[in-house]
Amino acid sequence: MKPAAYAVLNLDAVQHNLAVVRHYAPAAKVTAVIKANGYGHGLLRIAEAAKNVDGFAVARIEEAIQLREAGFQQRIVLLEGFSCAEELIAIAHYQLETVIHCVEQISLLEQCQATEKISVWLKLDSGMNRLGFKSTEFLSAHQRLKNCALLNPKINLMTHLANADDKNDAKTLAQIDLFKEVVSDLDGEWSIANSAGLLAWQESLTDWVRPGLMLYGISPFPEKTGAQLELKPVMSLYSKLIAVKQINPGETVGYSGSWVCEKPTRLGVVAIGYGDGYPRYAKTGTPVLVNGLRVPLVGRVSMDMITVDLNSQPEAKMGDSVTLWGMDLPVEEIALNSDTIPYTLVCGITQRVQIVENK
Ligand SMILES: *Cc1c(COP(=O)(O)O)cnc(C)c1O
Repeated sequence: MKPAAYAVLNLDAVQHNLAVVRHYAPAAKVTAVIKANGYGHGLLRIAEAAKNVDGFAVARIEEAIQLREAGFQQRIVLLEGFSCAEELIAIAHYQLETVIHCVEQISLLEQCQATEKISVWLKLDSGMNRLGFKSTEFLSAHQRLKNCALLNPKINLMTHLANADDKNDAKTLAQIDLFKEVVSDLDGEWSIANSAGLLAWQESLTDWVRPGLMLYGISPFPEKTGAQLELKPVMSLYSKLIAVKQINPGETVGYSGSWVCEKPTRLGVVAIGYGDGYPRYAKTGTPVLVNGLRVPLVGRVSMDMITVDLNSQPEAKMGDSVTLWGMDLPVEEIALNSDTIPYTLVCGITQRVQIVENK
Protein backbone atom coordinates (compact mmCIF):
# COMPACT_ATOMS: atom_id res chain seq x y z
CA MET A 1 0.00 0.00 0.00
CA LYS A 2 1.45 3.32 -1.08
CA PRO A 3 1.12 6.27 1.31
CA ALA A 4 -1.13 9.07 0.07
CA ALA A 5 1.54 11.76 0.11
CA TYR A 6 5.11 10.86 -0.72
CA ALA A 7 8.26 12.51 -2.03
CA VAL A 8 10.47 10.74 -4.55
CA LEU A 9 14.11 11.79 -4.29
CA ASN A 10 16.18 11.42 -7.42
CA LEU A 11 19.59 11.23 -5.79
CA ASP A 12 21.46 10.91 -9.09
CA ALA A 13 20.41 14.47 -9.75
CA VAL A 14 22.69 15.63 -6.91
CA GLN A 15 25.74 14.54 -8.91
CA HIS A 16 24.34 16.14 -12.04
CA ASN A 17 23.82 19.41 -10.16
CA LEU A 18 27.34 19.21 -8.73
CA ALA A 19 28.62 18.95 -12.29
CA VAL A 20 26.80 22.22 -13.01
CA VAL A 21 28.53 23.76 -9.97
CA ARG A 22 31.90 22.65 -11.33
CA HIS A 23 31.04 23.98 -14.78
CA TYR A 24 30.51 27.46 -13.34
CA ALA A 25 33.38 27.29 -10.84
CA PRO A 26 35.92 24.87 -12.34
CA ALA A 27 38.81 26.01 -10.16
CA ALA A 28 36.99 26.21 -6.84
CA LYS A 29 36.69 23.69 -4.05
CA VAL A 30 33.08 22.90 -3.18
CA THR A 31 31.43 23.07 0.23
CA ALA A 32 28.01 21.45 -0.17
CA VAL A 33 25.52 23.25 2.07
CA ILE A 34 23.29 20.60 3.63
CA LYS A 35 21.85 22.49 6.62
CA ALA A 36 18.18 22.18 7.66
CA ASN A 37 18.12 18.42 7.08
CA GLY A 38 19.65 18.81 3.62
CA TYR A 39 17.05 21.46 2.70
CA GLY A 40 14.35 18.98 3.72
CA HIS A 41 15.77 16.12 1.63
CA GLY A 42 17.48 14.28 4.53
CA LEU A 43 20.88 15.19 5.97
CA LEU A 44 22.64 11.82 5.74
CA ARG A 45 21.00 10.91 2.47
CA ILE A 46 22.24 14.09 0.77
CA ALA A 47 25.68 13.83 2.39
CA GLU A 48 25.98 10.32 0.93
CA ALA A 49 24.76 11.46 -2.49
CA ALA A 50 27.29 14.33 -2.49
CA LYS A 51 30.14 12.58 -0.69
CA ASN A 52 32.78 13.44 -3.32
CA VAL A 53 32.68 17.17 -2.47
CA ASP A 54 35.54 18.89 -0.64
CA GLY A 55 33.46 19.68 2.41
CA PHE A 56 30.00 20.05 3.92
CA ALA A 57 28.44 23.03 5.65
CA VAL A 58 25.63 22.94 8.19
CA ALA A 59 24.15 25.62 10.43
CA ARG A 60 24.08 23.83 13.78
CA ILE A 61 26.45 21.66 15.74
CA GLU A 62 23.84 18.90 16.17
CA GLU A 63 23.76 18.48 12.41
CA ALA A 64 27.55 18.25 12.24
CA ILE A 65 27.72 15.67 15.03
CA GLN A 66 25.09 13.60 13.28
CA LEU A 67 27.31 13.56 10.17
CA ARG A 68 30.42 12.56 12.15
CA GLU A 69 28.56 9.84 14.05
CA ALA A 70 27.34 8.45 10.73
CA GLY A 71 30.98 8.16 9.68
CA PHE A 72 31.44 11.13 7.35
CA GLN A 73 35.09 12.23 7.56
CA GLN A 74 34.90 15.22 5.20
CA ARG A 75 35.57 18.77 6.34
CA ILE A 76 32.42 20.12 8.00
CA VAL A 77 31.92 23.88 8.42
CA LEU A 78 29.57 25.23 11.09
CA LEU A 79 28.03 28.31 9.48
CA GLU A 80 26.65 29.70 12.75
CA GLY A 81 29.74 28.79 14.73
CA PHE A 82 29.33 28.23 18.48
CA SER A 83 27.91 30.25 21.33
CA CYS A 84 29.19 28.53 24.48
CA ALA A 85 32.25 26.68 25.81
CA GLU A 86 30.64 23.22 25.61
CA GLU A 87 30.02 23.63 21.91
CA LEU A 88 33.63 24.62 21.41
CA ILE A 89 34.84 21.48 23.20
CA ALA A 90 32.61 19.44 20.89
CA ILE A 91 34.00 21.27 17.85
CA ALA A 92 37.53 20.26 18.86
CA HIS A 93 36.47 16.73 19.73
CA TYR A 94 34.63 16.12 16.45
CA GLN A 95 37.18 18.13 14.44
CA LEU A 96 34.65 20.52 12.95
CA GLU A 97 35.55 23.81 11.27
CA THR A 98 33.77 26.79 12.73
CA VAL A 99 32.86 30.23 11.50
CA ILE A 100 34.07 33.00 13.84
CA HIS A 101 31.72 35.95 13.61
CA CYS A 102 31.91 37.83 16.93
CA VAL A 103 34.36 38.83 19.61
CA GLU A 104 32.71 36.72 22.33
CA GLN A 105 33.70 33.65 20.34
CA ILE A 106 37.33 34.76 20.29
CA SER A 107 37.32 35.07 24.09
CA LEU A 108 35.91 31.54 24.37
CA LEU A 109 38.64 30.28 22.02
CA GLU A 110 41.34 31.98 24.11
CA GLN A 111 40.03 30.35 27.28
CA CYS A 112 39.36 26.91 25.83
CA GLN A 113 41.31 23.99 27.33
CA ALA A 114 40.85 21.56 24.43
CA THR A 115 44.01 19.80 23.25
CA GLU A 116 43.00 19.20 19.63
CA LYS A 117 43.61 22.10 17.22
CA ILE A 118 40.68 23.82 15.51
CA SER A 119 40.33 25.27 11.99
CA VAL A 120 38.26 28.41 11.59
CA TRP A 121 36.62 30.66 9.00
CA LEU A 122 36.77 34.31 10.02
CA LYS A 123 33.66 36.01 8.71
CA LEU A 124 33.41 39.56 7.42
CA ASP A 125 30.05 41.28 7.62
CA SER A 126 30.18 42.93 4.20
CA GLY A 127 26.59 44.17 4.28
CA MET A 128 24.22 41.39 5.32
CA ASN A 129 24.32 42.74 8.89
CA ARG A 130 23.59 39.37 10.38
CA LEU A 131 26.76 37.51 11.38
CA GLY A 132 30.35 38.72 10.99
CA PHE A 133 32.87 41.36 11.97
CA LYS A 134 32.59 44.84 10.54
CA SER A 135 35.44 45.79 8.21
CA THR A 136 36.84 48.12 10.88
CA GLU A 137 37.05 45.27 13.44
CA PHE A 138 38.17 42.53 11.09
CA LEU A 139 41.96 42.90 11.18
CA SER A 140 42.16 43.11 14.97
CA ALA A 141 39.98 40.00 15.22
CA HIS A 142 42.34 38.30 12.78
CA GLN A 143 45.36 39.34 14.86
CA ARG A 144 43.81 37.92 18.03
CA LEU A 145 43.09 34.63 16.27
CA LYS A 146 46.69 34.48 15.00
CA ASN A 147 47.86 34.54 18.62
CA CYS A 148 45.43 31.87 19.73
CA ALA A 149 47.28 28.63 20.51
CA LEU A 150 44.19 26.48 19.95
CA LEU A 151 43.94 27.31 16.24
CA ASN A 152 45.55 25.83 13.18
CA PRO A 153 47.76 28.60 11.84
CA LYS A 154 45.91 29.09 8.57
CA ILE A 155 42.82 31.23 9.15
CA ASN A 156 40.26 31.02 6.34
CA LEU A 157 38.26 34.05 5.31
CA MET A 158 34.62 34.32 4.26
CA THR A 159 31.63 36.54 3.77
CA HIS A 160 28.02 36.01 2.69
CA LEU A 161 26.10 37.80 -0.09
CA ALA A 162 22.75 39.38 0.76
CA ASN A 163 21.26 40.17 -2.67
CA ALA A 164 23.03 37.89 -5.14
CA ASP A 165 19.71 36.59 -6.51
CA ASP A 166 19.11 40.03 -8.07
CA LYS A 167 21.46 40.29 -11.05
CA ASN A 168 20.95 44.06 -11.25
CA ASP A 169 21.69 44.90 -7.65
CA ALA A 170 24.99 46.76 -7.26
CA LYS A 171 25.19 45.71 -3.62
CA THR A 172 26.71 42.34 -4.54
CA LEU A 173 29.78 43.85 -6.22
CA ALA A 174 30.14 46.30 -3.34
CA GLN A 175 30.15 43.37 -0.88
CA ILE A 176 32.70 41.44 -2.94
CA ASP A 177 34.94 44.49 -3.36
CA LEU A 178 34.84 45.26 0.34
CA PHE A 179 35.75 41.67 1.19
CA LYS A 180 38.70 41.59 -1.22
CA GLU A 181 39.94 44.95 0.03
CA VAL A 182 39.80 43.96 3.71
CA VAL A 183 41.43 40.53 3.35
CA SER A 184 43.92 41.29 0.56
CA ASP A 185 47.02 41.23 2.78
CA LEU A 186 46.04 38.12 4.77
CA ASP A 187 46.86 34.54 3.95
CA GLY A 188 44.17 31.86 4.17
CA GLU A 189 41.58 30.63 1.70
CA TRP A 190 38.54 32.66 0.62
CA SER A 191 34.88 31.74 0.34
CA ILE A 192 32.10 34.06 -0.87
CA ALA A 193 29.65 32.46 -3.31
CA ASN A 194 26.29 30.86 -2.49
CA SER A 195 24.25 29.38 -5.38
CA ALA A 196 23.20 32.77 -6.76
CA GLY A 197 26.75 34.12 -6.52
CA LEU A 198 28.10 31.05 -8.25
CA LEU A 199 25.62 31.29 -11.14
CA ALA A 200 25.48 35.07 -11.64
CA TRP A 201 28.58 36.72 -10.17
CA GLN A 202 31.95 35.60 -11.56
CA GLU A 203 33.64 37.98 -9.12
CA SER A 204 32.39 35.88 -6.21
CA LEU A 205 34.23 32.75 -7.38
CA THR A 206 37.22 32.28 -5.08
CA ASP A 207 39.02 29.31 -3.47
CA TRP A 208 35.77 27.83 -2.14
CA VAL A 209 32.15 28.04 -3.25
CA ARG A 210 29.19 27.23 -0.97
CA PRO A 211 26.21 26.10 -3.07
CA GLY A 212 23.05 25.00 -1.30
CA LEU A 213 19.81 25.36 -3.22
CA MET A 214 21.23 24.54 -6.66
CA LEU A 215 22.45 21.13 -5.43
CA TYR A 216 18.81 20.23 -5.01
CA GLY A 217 18.12 21.30 -8.60
CA ILE A 218 16.37 24.53 -7.72
CA SER A 219 17.01 28.02 -9.06
CA PRO A 220 17.91 30.83 -6.65
CA PHE A 221 16.52 33.41 -9.10
CA PRO A 222 12.81 34.27 -8.98
CA GLU A 223 12.66 34.75 -12.77
CA LYS A 224 14.28 31.41 -13.71
CA THR A 225 13.62 27.74 -13.08
CA GLY A 226 16.27 25.16 -12.27
CA ALA A 227 15.66 23.52 -15.67
CA GLN A 228 16.57 26.80 -17.39
CA LEU A 229 19.92 26.62 -15.57
CA GLU A 230 20.41 22.96 -16.63
CA LEU A 231 19.72 21.77 -13.07
CA LYS A 232 17.64 18.68 -12.24
CA PRO A 233 15.20 18.68 -9.33
CA VAL A 234 15.98 16.13 -6.64
CA MET A 235 12.60 16.18 -4.89
CA SER A 236 9.23 15.45 -6.48
CA LEU A 237 6.12 15.57 -4.29
CA TYR A 238 3.15 13.37 -5.13
CA SER A 239 -0.26 12.45 -3.81
CA LYS A 240 -3.55 11.17 -5.23
CA LEU A 241 -7.17 12.08 -5.79
CA ILE A 242 -9.29 10.79 -2.92
CA ALA A 243 -12.65 12.13 -4.15
CA VAL A 244 -14.19 13.58 -7.31
CA LYS A 245 -17.54 15.39 -7.21
CA GLN A 246 -19.78 17.82 -9.04
CA ILE A 247 -20.27 21.36 -7.68
CA ASN A 248 -22.97 23.78 -8.83
CA PRO A 249 -22.72 27.52 -9.48
CA GLY A 250 -23.10 29.54 -6.29
CA GLU A 251 -21.69 26.81 -4.02
CA THR A 252 -18.47 27.47 -2.13
CA VAL A 253 -15.57 25.10 -1.49
CA GLY A 254 -13.49 24.74 1.63
CA TYR A 255 -12.97 26.81 4.77
CA SER A 256 -14.46 30.30 4.84
CA GLY A 257 -15.91 29.79 1.37
CA SER A 258 -13.16 31.81 -0.20
CA TRP A 259 -13.79 30.18 -3.60
CA VAL A 260 -17.25 30.46 -5.12
CA CYS A 261 -18.18 28.14 -7.98
CA GLU A 262 -19.19 30.09 -11.11
CA LYS A 263 -20.00 27.30 -13.57
CA PRO A 264 -20.71 23.59 -13.09
CA THR A 265 -17.39 22.19 -11.88
CA ARG A 266 -15.94 18.72 -11.52
CA LEU A 267 -13.99 19.09 -8.31
CA GLY A 268 -11.11 16.85 -7.27
CA VAL A 269 -9.99 16.45 -3.66
CA VAL A 270 -6.26 15.68 -3.27
CA ALA A 271 -4.68 14.19 -0.14
CA ILE A 272 -2.07 16.86 0.52
CA GLY A 273 -2.20 19.92 2.75
CA TYR A 274 -0.17 22.17 4.98
CA GLY A 275 0.16 19.21 7.37
CA ASP A 276 2.42 17.71 4.72
CA GLY A 277 4.22 20.96 3.97
CA TYR A 278 2.15 22.08 0.99
CA PRO A 279 2.03 25.88 1.36
CA ARG A 280 -1.07 27.25 3.11
CA TYR A 281 -0.84 30.41 1.02
CA ALA A 282 -0.91 28.75 -2.41
CA LYS A 283 -3.44 30.83 -4.35
CA THR A 284 -6.39 29.73 -6.44
CA GLY A 285 -4.87 29.01 -9.84
CA THR A 286 -1.66 27.43 -8.52
CA PRO A 287 -0.86 24.59 -10.96
CA VAL A 288 -1.18 20.94 -9.91
CA LEU A 289 -0.64 17.95 -12.25
CA VAL A 290 -3.38 15.33 -12.35
CA ASN A 291 -2.29 12.33 -14.41
CA GLY A 292 0.49 14.58 -15.74
CA LEU A 293 -1.80 17.40 -16.93
CA ARG A 294 -2.11 20.86 -15.40
CA VAL A 295 -5.22 21.80 -13.46
CA PRO A 296 -5.72 24.79 -11.15
CA LEU A 297 -5.99 24.62 -7.38
CA VAL A 298 -9.21 26.24 -6.16
CA GLY A 299 -10.11 27.43 -2.65
CA ARG A 300 -8.12 27.32 0.58
CA VAL A 301 -5.41 24.80 1.32
CA SER A 302 -6.47 22.73 4.37
CA MET A 303 -4.30 20.70 6.72
CA ASP A 304 -4.83 17.40 4.89
CA MET A 305 -6.43 18.29 1.57
CA ILE A 306 -6.53 20.64 -1.38
CA THR A 307 -9.23 20.96 -4.03
CA VAL A 308 -8.65 21.27 -7.78
CA ASP A 309 -10.82 22.12 -10.79
CA LEU A 310 -11.05 19.00 -13.01
CA ASN A 311 -13.24 20.47 -15.76
CA SER A 312 -10.39 20.01 -18.25
CA GLN A 313 -10.08 16.34 -17.20
CA PRO A 314 -13.45 14.61 -17.27
CA GLU A 315 -11.80 11.17 -17.00
CA ALA A 316 -9.93 11.84 -13.76
CA LYS A 317 -11.08 9.55 -10.92
CA MET A 318 -10.40 8.56 -7.34
CA GLY A 319 -6.91 7.08 -6.93
CA ASP A 320 -5.34 8.98 -9.84
CA SER A 321 -1.86 10.34 -9.38
CA VAL A 322 -1.22 13.98 -8.53
CA THR A 323 2.11 15.86 -8.73
CA LEU A 324 2.51 18.89 -6.47
CA TRP A 325 6.03 19.83 -7.57
CA GLY A 326 9.29 18.40 -8.90
CA MET A 327 9.79 16.70 -12.27
CA ASP A 328 7.46 18.40 -14.80
CA LEU A 329 6.24 21.05 -12.33
CA PRO A 330 8.94 23.37 -10.99
CA VAL A 331 8.80 24.05 -7.25
CA GLU A 332 9.88 27.58 -8.19
CA GLU A 333 6.47 28.07 -9.82
CA ILE A 334 4.61 26.86 -6.73
CA ALA A 335 6.69 29.26 -4.62
CA LEU A 336 5.77 32.22 -6.85
CA ASN A 337 2.09 31.29 -6.57
CA SER A 338 2.40 31.14 -2.77
CA ASP A 339 4.33 34.39 -2.24
CA THR A 340 7.30 32.47 -0.90
CA ILE A 341 10.65 31.11 -2.05
CA PRO A 342 11.34 27.50 -3.02
CA TYR A 343 13.72 27.11 -0.03
CA THR A 344 10.75 27.17 2.38
CA LEU A 345 8.81 24.57 0.39
CA VAL A 346 11.45 21.84 0.29
CA CYS A 347 12.59 22.59 3.87
CA GLY A 348 9.00 22.41 5.06
CA ILE A 349 8.11 18.85 4.04
CA THR A 350 6.78 17.20 7.21
CA GLN A 351 7.24 13.80 8.87
CA ARG A 352 4.00 12.54 7.38
CA VAL A 353 5.39 12.61 3.84
CA GLN A 354 7.00 9.28 3.10
CA ILE A 355 10.36 9.58 1.38
CA VAL A 356 11.05 7.19 -1.48
CA GLU A 357 14.65 7.08 -2.73
CA ASN A 358 15.13 6.68 -6.42
CA LYS A 359 18.81 5.93 -6.97
C1 LIG B 1 22.64 28.75 3.40
C2 LIG B 1 23.95 29.35 3.12
C3 LIG B 1 24.59 29.12 1.88
C4 LIG B 1 23.93 28.41 0.73
O1 LIG B 1 22.99 29.28 0.14
P1 LIG B 1 22.13 28.87 -1.17
O2 LIG B 1 21.41 30.11 -1.51
O3 LIG B 1 21.21 27.78 -0.72
O4 LIG B 1 23.10 28.42 -2.19
C5 LIG B 1 25.89 29.57 1.74
N1 LIG B 1 26.51 30.26 2.73
C6 LIG B 1 25.91 30.53 3.91
C7 LIG B 1 26.64 31.30 4.96
C8 LIG B 1 24.61 30.10 4.14
O5 LIG B 1 24.02 30.37 5.30
